Amino acid sequence: MPVPELDFDLTETECAVKETVRRFATEVLRPAGEKLDKLSAEEVIARNSIFWDVHKQYVDLGLNEAGEGLTPLEQARISWIVSEMIGWGDSGLAIAFGAGGFPSNIAMMTGRSDLIEKFPADEIGCWAITEPDHGSDMIDFNDNIVHPGGNRGTPNTIARADGNEYVISGQKSAWVSNGTIAKSAALFCALEEADGSKGGGVFLVPLEDVAGVIKAKPTDKIGQRSLNQGEIFFDNVRIPADYKVAGTDEYRDFTNFTLTNANGGMSTCFAGVARAAFELAFDYAKERKQGGVPIIQHQSVKARLFTMYRKVEAARSHSRRVVLHNTLNETPSLPAAISAKIFSTQTAFEVASDALQIFGGAGISREYPIEKIFRDARISMIEDGCNEILSLVGFDGLVAA
Ligand SMILES: Cc1cc2nc3c(=O)[nH]c(=O)nc-3n(C[C@H](O)[C@H](O)[C@H](O)COP(=O)(O)OP(=O)(O)OC[C@H]3O[C@@H](n4cnc5c(N)ncnc54)[C@H](O)[C@@H]3O)c2cc1C
Repeated sequence: MPVPELDFDLTETECAVKETVRRFATEVLRPAGEKLDKLSAEEVIARNSIFWDVHKQYVDLGLNEAGEGLTPLEQARISWIVSEMIGWGDSGLAIAFGAGGFPSNIAMMTGRSDLIEKFPADEIGCWAITEPDHGSDMIDFNDNIVHPGGNRGTPNTIARADGNEYVISGQKSAWVSNGTIAKSAALFCALEEADGSKGGGVFLVPLEDVAGVIKAKPTDKIGQRSLNQGEIFFDNVRIPADYKVAGTDEYRDFTNFTLTNANGGMSTCFAGVARAAFELAFDYAKERKQGGVPIIQHQSVKARLFTMYRKVEAARSHSRRVVLHNTLNETPSLPAAISAKIFSTQTAFEVASDALQIFGGAGISREYPIEKIFRDARISMIEDGCNEILSLVGFDGLVAA
């Protein structure tokens, strides 16, 4: 840590969790993320890949249960400590773990023991919402940004009621995190009920050993390469009707709530990424000599580093404040979560870009870690909604509040 931490009021439990996660992020996630980054998308998820061992170690840490018995305030604080530190270690793995918990989190929300048992927290799941023809469209669930006279066309995935089952057909986009390895999905898609009514629905869908589920090849991409992504196809997949957890009447509220949580998580995670980039640049500037002294002694480098530090601390503060607010309030704020997501991901990208500049030529070399963080940060501005679309959705949420 090149500069003092501003957290002076952590409790004993919070300090213990922070130290455990710091060690895991430093000793396991950072080196694993760097190794996985150099592999092909297929190799990342191959049977002998370190990905599986790292995931097991993450599950074994029991972080999902770290908040049990704590007050909501303590839970919120633990959640940002963990998310920021895991993002600091490797953002691709952080998203794999975060997205992996979607089906089990939703099962927990229902309070139904059969679903909680069927969709356990230690299995890798996914959030399947975006579609090949509907990326931003699916994030704009209130139809705020439909162009006048625009026509969104037909959905790519539909669940149709059929007796006491739903039959799912279609496909989700190549960007679904954990898409080709997930054992289950929290599926957000179009819905046709038995009475002919149409809308949106949320389903918990098993993806393993289920007739009609086909997974594509993993997506190759520039950043967060440790994160598996890929299409899922549904060829008349049948699920019990009670795996529907939200119908048309609840769809918007449910999606709002889910996006609020997801954007909140992204904000703390990418505040951690920004901090990682700043620290690497700070340390490198102390070592690298030009003009006869370590470059950290040159005024322009000092000023650049201080600007980076200022942005990192602002992202950390904003994301924490929003996560606290949204955990403690009965009506979490989507605009606040979006604001924090955009601010942290933009900060991570800008700070990583400045850090790369401080590394000079070494910054573009794969020998050094900064170019990876730069690539990882870049795609976060599209992840969980393009930042510009989220701004429009967030603004409309503010006006409506
Ligand atoms: C790393 C990563 C992880 C992801 N994980 C998941 C996941 O777990 N599950 C999942 O379902 N999806 C996931 N996604 C998909 C992500 O949510 C979409 O990529 C995102 O919402 C944008 O959709 P799109 O890629 O189809 O771009 P498009 O919607 O095609 O947008 C293309 C461009 O057009 C602009 N644009 C689009 N619509 C409008 C409009 N109405 N007005 C003005 N401009 C517009 C956009 O801003 C963008 O610049 C992930 C994406 C990434 C990059």
